[in-house]
Amino acid sequence: MKIIEMDFSVNSKDRNQMIDITSQVHAVVSESGISNGDVIVYCPHTTAGITINENADPDVPHDILLTLADLIPQNKSGYQHCEGNSDSHVKSSLIGTSQQILLNNGTLNLGTWQGIFFCEFDGPRNRKVKVQIKGE
Ligand code: ZN
Repeated sequence: MKIIEMDFSVNSKDRNQMIDITSQVHAVVSESGISNGDVIVYCPHTTAGITINENADPDVPHDILLTLADLIPQNKSGYQHCEGNSDSHVKSSLIGTSQQILLNNGTLNLGTWQGIFFCEFDGPRNRKVKVQIKGE
């Protein structure tokens, strides 16, 4: 079994943004030469996340961000964190910082409508996404 780690950059443009990174993940998986195993997509940031959801209709990521904004307001009395981005940290913990995808015959085992999203919660920023591919 081989383990290969690679990373790529993502530039966000908005404070809250879901960016489809499926093609970048595909590219590093192809480059790894591993065709069967599993893939971990991870972001080493405290105010961002990784999720898998529908990438066919752009209204879906829009509605996810709208709902997160309703659940976790940017300004709330009682927040104590001095950077003023407590909502970003809470969203990161709710969404999580990684996803695991099965890899079969060189193809990421995503559903027809699924895509991998980098979730920015404190942009715009330059971010890093790490990908670990394990298998043969
Ligand atoms: Zn902070």
